[in-house]
Amino acid sequence: MSLASLRPIPLHAGNPGPFTGEGNWTYLIPGDAPVLIDAGVGQASHLDALAAAAPAGPGRVLVTHVHTDHATGAPAIASRWPAAEFWKWPWPEKDARFAVPWRPLRDGDRVATPADDLEVIHTPGHSPDHLAFWHAGSRTVFVGDLLVLGTTVFIPASSGGNLSDYLRSLERLLALEPVRAWPAHGPVIEDPAALIRQYLDHRRQREAQVLSALASGVSTADAITAAIYFRLTPALAPMARESVLAHLHKLEQDGRARRDGECWTVA
Ligand SMILES: [Zn+2]
Repeated sequence: MSLASLRPIPLHAGNPGPFTGEGNWTYLIPGDAPVLIDAGVGQASHLDALAAAAPAGPGRVLVTHVHTDHATGAPAIASRWPAAEFWKWPWPEKDARFAVPWRPLRDGDRVATPADDLEVIHTPGHSPDHLAFWHAGSRTVFVGDLLVLGTTVFIPASSGGNLSDYLRSLERLLALEPVRAWPAHGPVIEDPAALIRQYLDHRRQREAQVLSALASGVSTADAITAAIYFRLTPALAPMARESVLAHLHKLEQDGRARRDGECWTVA
């Protein structure tokens, strides 16, 4: 197998907005029984592009995680192509919002595609159900929301995000030595290892900032957010606070911070 052996067709989900930036990419691996990575949101433009690239529809739809910009389109795809199968790591209470018969994927599963198998890699952190799909022959990987060029990935600490898990997922991906990554947001990533190293550095720096705020007696998530985010606009404050909380939870897990109600101290 070579790099040329995996040529997914990027299909835009047509959903630009405040939380998705320019919107989501989904990827079609064409051929007999084509495989679609992520379901989009059911926009007509996405379904039409899918129909043009795969008139009989996708045989399988692999969903990286259940966030709305990745999973909402599943019922629309199912109603247009009833034979399509929908696969993801189970998160039952969230998956139920999208009424298709979800089938379970587990870490290490192999999914047949027209371009050789994809290996399923559980990569929790951004969400507990997050999966990446690894194509060993070309050393390329579909990364969902694990990596986004030009920015960092949001860890929603209050709704299933876990920074410790996320860092472990990044380390696991780095160990595979990928040469290309196909993300759900932004352009194709040609040097994913470099981006992962930047991400790991960034989180280490952020953790040091949170620890030094704690050490100087700043004790609530709000106060720490105000202390370490320079000129934060009010609209972004809730997301910044979630990021700080993600760090605090990790420090607590590591035995380096202690929580007492809303107040945090160095352990
Ligand atoms: Zn997401």
